[in-house]
Amino acid sequence: MAERGKRTVRDLRRGNRASLLRHLYFEGPLSRQELGRDTGLSAGSISNVVGELIADGMVEEAGAVESDGGRPRILLQVAPGYGYVVGVDVGETRVRVELFDLALTERAAADLPLSDSGHDVDHVVRLVLDGIDTVVREAGIDEREVLGVGIGVPGIVAQHDAPGDLPGDGVIVHGQTIGWDAVPMGRLLRAGTALPLFIDNGAKTLGQAEMWFGAGRGSDNVVIALIGSGVGACVVTDGKPYHGASSSAGEWGHTTLRVGGRTCRCGSRGCLEAYVGAEALLGRWPGAPKGVSEETALAELLAAADRDPEADALLAEAAEYLGAGIADLINLFNPHRIVIGGWAGLMLGPRILPTVREVAVAYALHHPCVQTSIELGRLGTDAVTVGAATLPLARFLDTGGERPVSLPAQADGEQQTESGPLRNRIARAVR
Ligand SMILES: [Zn+2]
Repeated sequence: MAERGKRTVRDLRRGNRASLLRHLYFEGPLSRQELGRDTGLSAGSISNVVGELIADGMVEEAGAVESDGGRPRILLQVAPGYGYVVGVDVGETRVRVELFDLALTERAAADLPLSDSGHDVDHVVRLVLDGIDTVVREAGIDEREVLGVGIGVPGIVAQHDAPGDLPGDGVIVHGQTIGWDAVPMGRLLRAGTALPLFIDNGAKTLGQAEMWFGAGRGSDNVVIALIGSGVGACVVTDGKPYHGASSSAGEWGHTTLRVGGRTCRCGSRGCLEAYVGAEALLGRWPGAPKGVSEETALAELLAAADRDPEADALLAEAAEYLGAGIADLINLFNPHRIVIGGWAGLMLGPRILPTVREVAVAYALHHPCVQTSIELGRLGTDAVTVGAATLPLARFLDTGGERPVSLPAQADGEQQTESGPLRNRIARAVR
């Protein structure tokens, strides 16, 4: 019983730390009084926990504000320099790696183009590991200051942890459109880095970034549509990303909009992606320039649309399919908001959004549709890396600032705690 009592006190303390850290992170800077009012914790608990967080270096003072008749109130914030997080976007044409402080201010970045071999697994793994080394070196920090690496990948991300695994080890990626069949991404990366790894689908990491900092903020029921070369979605219901039975939920790009329609990269026919994705759009445009990036070619398609009837017709068709696909999302999930992001979505948006809205209204059920807004993402095309970096950051906040166990730190013994074998802690942390 004594052990159980001890654990309960520890859990409570950790819960209070998490609640304060999270609140300070999203709403700070705040005074102790405001923290008490917002979290419902007593003045004594606030004082104790804030004292600990300041002593640990996770929270720092951020100026003071006058209070009515009393002493000025000290403002507190999560210390941006307490640690760092890395975000990786395994994109369609390149691997982008960015290192951020805890305020998600970029401190270093590396762009590593994919070679002609495309998404050859070993090549992608090497680029990710090289990118991590590069940004840590450029930022001039010690690798042990990195709380974790978040990685957004194309495809379905499944977790198959074995006993004793470190975070991310058990991740398997099924990327049907890029030829990845059950790629053990976690173990391949683990062979080259000891940092905690947090791997998720790129659309889901983008979704998390828009939910935290962009167009999704303030709502718990949002669908973030990612339109790039292909099409994906992150469905957030009641504030949480919806994963489904084996994490593949949100493969909206491969929902059938036309029975027997165009062949899609996934091998099926008539998928939304085959009409709306940048690759599909450019593949059908006779005027598409050769030897340039998809971004450049899509910009030319948009520029040509005012004089080239074929380009104009392609965009009109894409707008109609996208509107119909969004009507399906409205009917299925009843979201408050649909956010269109991804590099191609942001490029196409200003031109096609009015049509997309009209078509969605025409196809969706009236009642849910009038409650749904359709808007463009606010975070720009780097949102996948920011979203990926939020994965280790979310874990840091949710655990009340517990540093993830990584091999270099473990070797120094500084991560040992009273709570038992390290591996058990990791196993709990990743679930
Ligand atoms: Zn498909």
